[in-house]
Amino acid sequence: MPLRATTGTTNLHAFEFEEGQWEELKATYKRLGLTMPCCQRAAVPKTSPLGNYFFAHARKGPCATAPESAQHLYCKQLIAQAAHAAGWTVTTERPGACPTGEAWIADVFCERGRAQVAFEVQMSPQPHAETLRRQRRYRDSGVRGAWFHAPMKSGIAPLTDKETPVFSLEDFEVGVPPRVKGFPLALPEFVEALLGKRLTYEVPEYTRTLHVGYLLGECWTCKRQLKHVCGMLDSAEQPWWYHPLTAASLSQTLAGVQAALSSSELAGLGLNRIEQYEINLGRRSKAPTSNICLHCNAPQPNEYVTEKLRAALGAPGELKNPPARVSSLLGAAVLTRTERGAGRWKLHDAAAVPSGHLAA
Ligand SMILES: [Zn+2]
Ligand SMILES: [Zn+2]
Repeated sequence: MPLRATTGTTNLHAFEFEEGQWEELKATYKRLGLTMPCCQRAAVPKTSPLGNYFFAHARKGPCATAPESAQHLYCKQLIAQAAHAAGWTVTTERPGACPTGEAWIADVFCERGRAQVAFEVQMSPQPHAETLRRQRRYRDSGVRGAWFHAPMKSGIAPLTDKETPVFSLEDFEVGVPPRVKGFPLALPEFVEALLGKRLTYEVPEYTRTLHVGYLLGECWTCKRQLKHVCGMLDSAEQPWWYHPLTAASLSQTLAGVQAALSSSELAGLGLNRIEQYEINLGRRSKAPTSNICLHCNAPQPNEYVTEKLRAALGAPGELKNPPARVSSLLGAAVLTRTERGAGRWKLHDAAAVPSGHLAA
């Protein structure tokens, strides 16, 4: 159910009509030769049972454009009216094409100066891959796309990011503007905020400090000095506090280090990198995750490393309490890195508009 029909080269937008004007159009449209935007066949102005104005095919024909729900029509109307009120030139059901010729039709297309924004209302579930595909067509066409999805039955929030802004509508009935999930705004105010550059996508950053315990020793093969990685520590204070003392537990512990730090991060700390070394002395190893010598790339058998570790820690009984003698062979390397958390859209007050906004 389009909100737009054409007469000659002029667009008629149902969402711009007042009640009296719409009744007048209904009485006079036959003289105007209105056509549908989808197939250029004859169009008729109609009013939905819920009071929304739209255009329909004058008679059933071969047009394959899928029928829209009343909710879809209503949301398009709200978006179009809000964008129009915000000073944008609005065209609904607007066809366009990528430079490669791929065609698209935007539910609500808004232009102001060089900025072009397409709003899409998705009342039926759409796989995210399809949203990404359609968003890519807009991007290739120099159009910023934004998506409003009906609430998902699962309650799961749709995937959204800076490249592909997707927002969820709360349950609604035609006649009462839906609220946008997670924001204190209904759809019209939200569209105004989007177009007014008052929504930014923010990814929190934080600093994380990692402590990697090591044992000073020499390579099993080349005999050069190196730091055998022994496990992650809570702090750099007590590098003797916990260490795996069997080959199997060292392998397991090293797998944890491998998951936490990249090979280049380990190299940056002057430590061995960690790799899986499945075959040891011709047999399948039960403790495959190993230190790899940073000088000669030889895998260090976990049996060898744990033997040295036991010697550095002293007698097993001493482990129950912090040992009186802390071996100078044990140490902790400290890595500080910046990590990024989950991003989210943030609404800003009308007064403060930062850069990096949606309609950039
Ligand atoms: Zn049609
Ligand atoms: Zn070596």
